[in-house]
Amino acid sequence: MNREEIYIAGLMNDIGKLLNSKNDNYDYVNKLKSILKNNQFFQKFNNSLLKEIFTVNSSQQNMVESVFFDKGEKSLSQKIIDAADFLSTSNKEDLKDKDSLQLRSIFTEIFKKENNIDEDYFYPTKKLDLNNIFPVKKDKLESADLDNLIINFLNELKNINREEQLYFLLEKYFWSVPASKSQSNSDISLFDHSKTKAAIAISLYDQYKAEKITESELEDISNFKKDQFILLNGDLSGIQDFIFNIPSKKASKSLKGRSMYLNLLLDIIVKYIVEELDLKESNILYNGGGNFYILAPESKKEDLNGLKTGISKKLLAAHQGDLYLAVDSICFAPHEFDNFTELWGKVKIKVESVKHRKWNEVGLKDNFNKIFGPLDQGTAENDHCHICGVSNDIRKLDLDKSINENNENQKICSLCESFIDLTDDLKDANYLSINKTNNNSNIYQSYNDVLSSFGYYFSFSSTLTEFDNIYKLNDTNFMTDNCSGFKFGAYNLPQEDHRQITFEELAENSIENGNGDKKLGVLKLDVDNLGAIFTKGLESDRSIARVTSLSRMMGLFYEGYINRIITENNWDDKIYVVFSGGDDTFIVGSWNVILDFAEKFYKKFREYTCYNKYITFSAGLGVFKHNYPINRSAHLTEDYLDEAKTIDFNRNDDVVPIKNKINFLGETFNWEELKRIKSIKDLLYDLVINKGYGKGILRKVHKSTLGFKNILEDSTRGIYRNIKLWRLSYYLREVKENDEEAAEKLLNEYESIVIHNLTGKSEDEMINNIMIIPAAVKWTEMATRNFKEG
Ligand SMILES: [Zn+2]
Repeated sequence: MNREEIYIAGLMNDIGKLLNSKNDNYDYVNKLKSILKNNQFFQKFNNSLLKEIFTVNSSQQNMVESVFFDKGEKSLSQKIIDAADFLSTSNKEDLKDKDSLQLRSIFTEIFKKENNIDEDYFYPTKKLDLNNIFPVKKDKLESADLDNLIINFLNELKNINREEQLYFLLEKYFWSVPASKSQSNSDISLFDHSKTKAAIAISLYDQYKAEKITESELEDISNFKKDQFILLNGDLSGIQDFIFNIPSKKASKSLKGRSMYLNLLLDIIVKYIVEELDLKESNILYNGGGNFYILAPESKKEDLNGLKTGISKKLLAAHQGDLYLAVDSICFAPHEFDNFTELWGKVKIKVESVKHRKWNEVGLKDNFNKIFGPLDQGTAENDHCHICGVSNDIRKLDLDKSINENNENQKICSLCESFIDLTDDLKDANYLSINKTNNNSNIYQSYNDVLSSFGYYFSFSSTLTEFDNIYKLNDTNFMTDNCSGFKFGAYNLPQEDHRQITFEELAENSIENGNGDKKLGVLKLDVDNLGAIFTKGLESDRSIARVTSLSRMMGLFYEGYINRIITENNWDDKIYVVFSGGDDTFIVGSWNVILDFAEKFYKKFREYTCYNKYITFSAGLGVFKHNYPINRSAHLTEDYLDEAKTIDFNRNDDVVPIKNKINFLGETFNWEELKRIKSIKDLLYDLVINKGYGKGILRKVHKSTLGFKNILEDSTRGIYRNIKLWRLSYYLREVKENDEEAAEKLLNEYESIVIHNLTGKSEDEMINNIMIIPAAVKWTEMATRNFKEG
């Protein structure tokens, strides 16, 4: 059996087992056999592949053996696949019953002992599609329709013509089928198990060929203590400055292109590493949000240093030190798969320390000028790019055509120009093609020149092109177009009549019926305690399949679901996603919509993660004039996010520090408080706009803050005095004079806050911050700007 076959068999082995266990209802086994015989892609492999796919590991061998094979010695490939199967999941149980269990959400399992989730949540047994990714409570779950899934899988499988399609078909159909039939451990999908199993299998095969492991050692894999694997981690730094250090006039035309370029740059570096180490798609355990993990055989260790230096040299030449990819790895033995989360954390720490020794691998001394820039900068005025500052002896400079105002003789370099073109290509992209090239010029005039130095180039298009290797964007029906696979991501941009909307127009879109501030909202959010969730959250079962399941499911929300929430709420012309991936999101948009977005996105994230109290995100939200420098608003928003994540040291009794807040207009609130701010704002808005109150009412409500303060404080301590609420109505007397009903509504709102607190909420849901009233008033003021009274 050759290397390719080991890989395919590793991927398909558990699917074979599944079909075999379901073969009573339909003749799946013969259908798959006929596909393997007649499909051109599979034909190039010999018959032993079939045997490997249907061979089950030793615990159940007897059951199936008599059906397919003669009894006999296990082949080498069987030994490799069995060992890989064993290492991929720590639960060694196999398919025993034929009832189809459903996949439990892995988010219910994070810090399971402490998270207090008493409901069971499962995924619908349906193909991967953004409509199906939310977990459902057990009593609302439709029964599993595994037969339907398998029939559709086999129908598509018969048309495949390249290896990558197989990988993506497995993801599409088996992302929500549990790998194990044990009730206690059904949170690993068959896809994640098969993927990691194939990655381990091909690594073991390479180790065997390099004479680092013997057949008998393979048979006793759990006791083999010599290093056999490498876990490689890469992390891109310089992202924020690279994207945002651009003049504001250019912002909407460049930001997206720049952030998407970084995304694709990492995709292509990952492809380059996989190609150089002769690995497979499955070896990429994770890639998103500026960082990646790759599993490789230990025998490739020697190749890594050269690879790292090569990557750094190319990046240095292309970006003069603005972008740095820190890469490091650890070697580990088979038995360490039992505690894979620890390896995940360990290599991450190593990579962090590489960042403190940036550019060491290329020789800091020799490249000092390249990294820190030549000393002659700022001599002649017109020989530098006005966006990135590169001089004309590094890249071609041209007059910047897009500026036709006062600074008409400003120059732009060809690379910055190409990011503007990329932004334009993205606005209605449905396909991404990534193809190989030998065009390695070492001159980096455009982004594709940089990527070509890694052996690839790419292009986006709205319709299908003639390229070989195309991915369908945000749509898993890729086989109908003969694509290689699919990709989720926030690719599209707000547009109007096929023209991209500018930031000024986004700011204008905040104005409703002539009312409201013409401003931009800037939002940055990311998952709290992500490192701890991965390294400690999985508790007892710390297998590789579980870690990859968790990271894939987390990415699906930020890369996939974000598109759905924007479209469903008709925010397509109001929200500009600068980036969203891994565990974080950065968006710019109409300020009032951004607030609604933050609230809804949070609500859906909580639902997606089964209301696990340890899986939350925090956010920073700023509101700025549309022409305020984008790099400054980005930094300020980053500061707001830091502010939101400030830990309350009075609460250090939990497994992770609880953050889970949003900083809005410089004040930090919890998400329940944000909800209340919004409902008070809605009430006030209605009073001002529809009920004919002057804006004077806002001042009057603001004054009620003081009276409410004591009542609110009392309520958080379980104290409620009717008399005080009566006094509050005194503070609202000016409102009352005009309209009894309005005052009543406000009082009701305050009262419901008090009752909310009195019904014993957890600290995260307690409404503590009296600034909710000034914030609601401020929000209403901004939303009613320019409203003509009378
Ligand atoms: Zn430039």
